[in-house]
Amino acid sequence: MKRLVKGFLATCCLVMLATVSVSAHGHGGGHHHGGGGSVQYYYCGGHSAHQHTNGACPYSGNGGTSCWKHDGAGWWYCHADGSCPKQCWQQIDQKWYYFNKDGYMATGWLKDGQKKYYLDADGAMATGWRKIGKNWYYFNGSGAMKTGWLTQGGNKYYLKSDGKMVTGKKVIKGKTYVFDKNGACQKLKKLQKKASVAC
Ligand SMILES: [Zn+2]
Repeated sequence: MKRLVKGFLATCCLVMLATVSVSAHGHGGGHHHGGGGSVQYYYCGGHSAHQHTNGACPYSGNGGTSCWKHDGAGWWYCHADGSCPKQCWQQIDQKWYYFNKDGYMATGWLKDGQKKYYLDADGAMATGWRKIGKNWYYFNGSGAMKTGWLTQGGNKYYLKSDGKMVTGKKVIKGKTYVFDKNGACQKLKKLQKKASVAC
């Protein structure tokens, strides 16, 4: 996790990681698209959708409160001091999100430097296995898409340079390997073709 934070710090323009103290609120369950249009909905401190009349949150006591906000164009986030992350990663409730240059929460594929990440539909950075479209991908603990060999649970998997998990036959560095439909590289006793190399 240490490495993760470092990596993100380097790309984050409005970092407040050290000072962020976000109370548990139901962002995940709070996606509510009612209203639409340009009306802004706020989700602060776990409260359901509400509006900030005259810019004030009805749920904030002294000072502000951190909030997810939503309008017709998407979601964004603001800290209690009113600053909102833009063009950077932000950890909120143990999950990482990426906010684009306009401050909107990103979803889907994201290229950051040489690394590729995937943000789930709720904006949370993917880690571990994900099926995206027709293919399986693997994202390490810091969210970076894995390529090459991956050993897990006693099996070896191979992720192509575009991240797609290999199934069936695959020539890797001149050797032919066989992967089952779940991507596990086959061991010798399961191999039928002698031309293939065992994992
Ligand atoms: Zn509010």
